[in-house]
Amino acid sequence: MTTNFQVDSSFSQHRNKCIQARTPVWLQSNGEKYQCAITHAPLALLFYFWAYFYFGFLPFSYTFSDSCWNETIKYTNFPLPTAIFPVEYDLNITTYLPGYNWKADERNMSYLGSVSIRMEVRQEMDKIVLHSSNLTIIDAKVINSDNNLEIKSWTINDSNQFLILSLNKIVNPGENLEVFITFGGYLREDRKGYYITKSTKPTGEPMINAVTQFEATSARFMVPCFDEPQFKATWQVKLTYPTGAVGLTNTIDMESIEDGDFTSTTYKRTVKMSSYLLAIFVGDVQFKETTTKRGLRIRVYADPKNIESVDMALNASRLAVDGFEELFGIDFPMEKIDFVSVFDFEAGAMENWGLIIHRAELILGTDKEIVEVVIHELAHQWFGNLVTMKYWYQTWLNEGFATFMTAIGQTFIDGNFSQDTVSCAWTTPHMSLLKFHISQQEEARLKDRYRPLRSVAFDKDGSVTIQSIYYSKGSSFIRMLEKIVGTLNFYEAMRNYLSQNMYSNVKEDYLYSALEAVWKTNTNNETTLSISEFAECWTNQNSYPTVFATRTPEGVVLTQNREAPIEKNYTNYDECGYKWDIPIWYQVAGEGSHELVWFKKDQYELEIRTEKTIIVNAESYGYYDVIYDDVSYQSIARELENNPTLYSMSTKLRLLLDLESNAYTQMIAPHSLVLIANALRNDEFPIVQEYAQTILKTTEFMINRLNEQNNEDLKIIKGFSTNTSKVLRKFYSNPSEQFGDYFKRNFKSDKEFCETLRNERNEEVTNQLVDWLNTNDSSGRKHIMGFLMFCAKNKDKVRGLVFDPSFDWTALEKSRNIQFLKILNRRNIYETREFRKFPSNEEYISRKTIIRIES
Ligand SMILES: [Zn+2]
Repeated sequence: MTTNFQVDSSFSQHRNKCIQARTPVWLQSNGEKYQCAITHAPLALLFYFWAYFYFGFLPFSYTFSDSCWNETIKYTNFPLPTAIFPVEYDLNITTYLPGYNWKADERNMSYLGSVSIRMEVRQEMDKIVLHSSNLTIIDAKVINSDNNLEIKSWTINDSNQFLILSLNKIVNPGENLEVFITFGGYLREDRKGYYITKSTKPTGEPMINAVTQFEATSARFMVPCFDEPQFKATWQVKLTYPTGAVGLTNTIDMESIEDGDFTSTTYKRTVKMSSYLLAIFVGDVQFKETTTKRGLRIRVYADPKNIESVDMALNASRLAVDGFEELFGIDFPMEKIDFVSVFDFEAGAMENWGLIIHRAELILGTDKEIVEVVIHELAHQWFGNLVTMKYWYQTWLNEGFATFMTAIGQTFIDGNFSQDTVSCAWTTPHMSLLKFHISQQEEARLKDRYRPLRSVAFDKDGSVTIQSIYYSKGSSFIRMLEKIVGTLNFYEAMRNYLSQNMYSNVKEDYLYSALEAVWKTNTNNETTLSISEFAECWTNQNSYPTVFATRTPEGVVLTQNREAPIEKNYTNYDECGYKWDIPIWYQVAGEGSHELVWFKKDQYELEIRTEKTIIVNAESYGYYDVIYDDVSYQSIARELENNPTLYSMSTKLRLLLDLESNAYTQMIAPHSLVLIANALRNDEFPIVQEYAQTILKTTEFMINRLNEQNNEDLKIIKGFSTNTSKVLRKFYSNPSEQFGDYFKRNFKSDKEFCETLRNERNEEVTNQLVDWLNTNDSSGRKHIMGFLMFCAKNKDKVRGLVFDPSFDWTALEKSRNIQFLKILNRRNIYETREFRKFPSNEEYISRKTIIRIES
């Protein structure tokens, strides 16, 4: 999945809490709910004959017992019991959408489903426990080979989102069972499960489409199933929908039968996969098509009005699939890949196997970001879909790899990739690769405060929310692994890892042993490092180390500490004591190559003996930051002034980024930042030059905010900027007209606007804007929020807005709000002191989620 919601995504979860199970009127005959079949004999009879037509036999074991008591079963853990595993699902879904020939009746905007699940019993049991939530269960029955099995009762366990079918006898391992469940519900409106997404016809008329979004745990909102990644099974889907609509699912269609107002299409059985990857779309769309080198069909579907805007996505996906198939040595295993553009989507896009759903603005048009998202979702077809995490604890493997592969995928599209120059493409510093990885490290550092990589944020009913840290930190950690074992070894190990684990589930150790195996073979067993031991502290602890480098007469002494002032109880993992085994890549001034030495967590300090200056974390390979003493900064600055080519581009960039973040959190004096930025202001690499100059511009902003007027530093930065607004403007792209109008009417410049907000006397402007943000007019929202965050003197109102669950974030989510959310995240750095009064994430978490580290 590509997340588009970079702040704590439990915001939206909280908002959606009010959505309860509602049984569609047409399923509530006689005003009663179908929780127990016996009270609804007419419908049960209907099912009886319906089953005959669908499954070709009469369900003899079905009994009209009225034993639907509420058995109290306590489950203290969210994971499903593993006594029984699904093997094959047959799913039928009839969707009643308006806007087509059928005369919409009381069934409108609802759906009716039936599922048969063939299962394998692995442990003795007398209860089938599967997931189901917010569904109307109409009926359930079970058969075995002896035809002597019955469901004694069934129970809905809301606190765990379980549907528990109690059997009339104990079933033994090795037996095969088949369960039939009929169910239904309204199409949801909260972008989870099977829900409504709106679009507009070219004529301007509104259209309603239906689409699914299941990751992490929302498949259970559409169909009772084993909704955890490790319960892989095949799915055969049959969709019935109003004639004229397009019906799509993961696989290619085999047969369509039109029967008056409705059409039924049967699709090919999927490969073995996790339930969160199942997907359905029904609605009014058209497509454009292409094929890959080996003839795989790729289509991009969009509403008729926008179908001409899909060419870039179509072209990028073709090149990326060709590239990934070659790189991984494994062909995409199904007959087609479809992309669908929808207007209402919680995430950026979702990698459903063979049916990738994108938020419209992340697939229509020619924005660079579209290509990145397309590549990310395609990388998932291997990392995530083919090889899947065992449980949600390993989600970082999915998202980390898909993010990591985005930069490689970009080279397929740019034409910079060629299999003949494998070593070249992957080991030569490639500008876009470097920029990408460094930006991922930066993003990770902004977020890496509360949750370790190996963590799951459970809601209290067992729902799981995908965390943004999995992406950037996951990718940065994977890059560190790559650099430790060597790039070519790394890709060889990746191919082995994928081919050894296809169609199954993995824990982290599977990856580590694949890496170790190749590494040891190719280095003739010289290495003794255990990757799993190394990884333990990086994946189970939040935060990251800061390495302090102090110049002594003999050399440079390194010590380690964690960067952020984090309360320890954010994680309950104590094994590492907030220390890490750190791979120290360092470069001695003037020497082109860099060395790797290990700074182990039980080492008090590490000394590198040299008279020359050294830079630690050369090439920005490592996910940690470095703080030098003043003497070192002075000599580094001097050397850079004399010879700017002493260090590589990424080493210099790393130096600047570490300086910047540590100056903002007051770990170092702004003076050191000014010194180095000034030395690099005319660097040979435009990106370094640009960044150094930006820092000189922003430093004034920082010095002013810290009230540390330093005349010398201000003299240096004079000429680069005295205008805070220039910096701010960087964060607020896409100004909207409405905001622009307001702005022009009231202020000469954004600087003046910001100053006004800061001025206590004019607090009514803040109040006005906060009131306006609470109205339905969403235009310019993100800009206003950004200004309020940075400039408003009285931030209490703004804080209230950000953490007020009733605040309507829909407009923000719909807008391209990534930029805005980045601003929100940046508060950790830019506003460390001022924002300390924010409700801490911990309080927020304790209200909503439980953080667990797998033992
Ligand atoms: Zn993803």
